[in-house]
Amino acid sequence: MKKKPFVTLEQLKEITKQYPTPFHIYDEKGIRENARRLKEAFSWNKGFKEYFAVKATPNPYIIEILKEEGCGVDCSSYTELMLAEALDYSGDGIMFSSNATPAKEFVKARELNAIINLDDFTHIEFLEKVAGLPDTICCRYNPGGMFMASNRIMDNPGDAKYGFTKEQMVEGFRILKEKGVKTFGIHAFLASNTLTNDYYPTLAGILFELAVELRDKTGADIKFINLSGGIGIPYRPEDEPNDIMAIGDGVRKAYERILVPAGLGDVAIYTELGRYMLAPYGHLVATAIHQKHIYKEYIGLDACAADLMRPAMYGAYHHITVMGKEDEPHVYKYDITGSLCENNDKFAIDRMLPKIDIGDLIVIHDTGAHGYAMGYNYNGKLRSAELLLKEDGSVKLIRRAETPQDYFATIDFSDYYKKLFN
Ligand SMILES: *Cc1c(COP(=O)(O)O)cnc(C)c1O
Repeated sequence: MKKKPFVTLEQLKEITKQYPTPFHIYDEKGIRENARRLKEAFSWNKGFKEYFAVKATPNPYIIEILKEEGCGVDCSSYTELMLAEALDYSGDGIMFSSNATPAKEFVKARELNAIINLDDFTHIEFLEKVAGLPDTICCRYNPGGMFMASNRIMDNPGDAKYGFTKEQMVEGFRILKEKGVKTFGIHAFLASNTLTNDYYPTLAGILFELAVELRDKTGADIKFINLSGGIGIPYRPEDEPNDIMAIGDGVRKAYERILVPAGLGDVAIYTELGRYMLAPYGHLVATAIHQKHIYKEYIGLDACAADLMRPAMYGAYHHITVMGKEDEPHVYKYDITGSLCENNDKFAIDRMLPKIDIGDLIVIHDTGAHGYAMGYNYNGKLRSAELLLKEDGSVKLIRRAETPQDYFATIDFSDYYKKLFN
């Protein structure tokens, strides 16, 4: 499928008069429409709720949009819980899916009355000691071995640090029940960025069977099953996008096959999607500021891996559009680079593109999730601004760009800081 930016060159020229590149920009209309499709795909389930994975895009203005569309939040750290608090989330609006959790984070989660999703058997005792046990608790399952869907290996849970083993789930539910926990949830996250409509239905089948077994063995009252994140998006033009209606329907079939006959037809389905909710609805916008001709042809941008780490970290593909040149022949082979002193700071390698001139505006696609969020300050690079393209076409600043003061703020007690900023 041809990938088309959600902003035009004319819009970007207008926007860059006020906000210099680089910046991430998000598409409110796309975000809302997608959130509504997800809700529709699972509308057969009475208790369905999406808990947006805050780590993917921790900007309150973006999460506010998802909140208006009925989403809760999935948090995994103290500051993510604070973000939920700032957005007036509490109780079953918050899923706390953490691991290797510090005590004070459990205390904060209990303070907000969040649903706690325990990552480990030993956390039962730990949570009880540091913050007390709530009435409702969720446990994260790791089936071990290889995870197969669509007749192929999707991932290797046996090698993943997360979750309880099967035996620990049974024992854990027994202990929690004895200690007075009243209702239970089950969670698992077995593969990331999946591009098959079978991932959720396959995972659901595993968790639904586990739910029946846990109910039978422990008498636990299971209220929800959390399918977590992992639905992917088509980063490449040739990728086949997921069909969320088919995914919702596949989960419904597993539900009707396994849970309904077992008398568990009231169980709510939860999701904790991050990437699927937002990745396509963000662009990193940069300007071509250098051309370099050595053994290869390089284009240097004013953005770098500190603005988008996925290509450097995973060799991930992000589509690139040279604005205004969409229809020109893609006959130039470039490496598109940032300015870090790291040779992996390349947004694209050997990418066929139209001829790029200095000053051209470059859109890097699918940065709406795990984009800005993974930013860092290596090489003294400052994090970019975030903008929101609203439904009415106006643009709102939803996070300013960092300044040198931000970079030095953690030594603001020192004479070095005073020398620079007084
Ligand atoms: C990262 C994460 C998610 C979201 O994952 P996506 O791949 O963005 O959908 C959901 N739940 C947990 C526990 C996570 O760690």
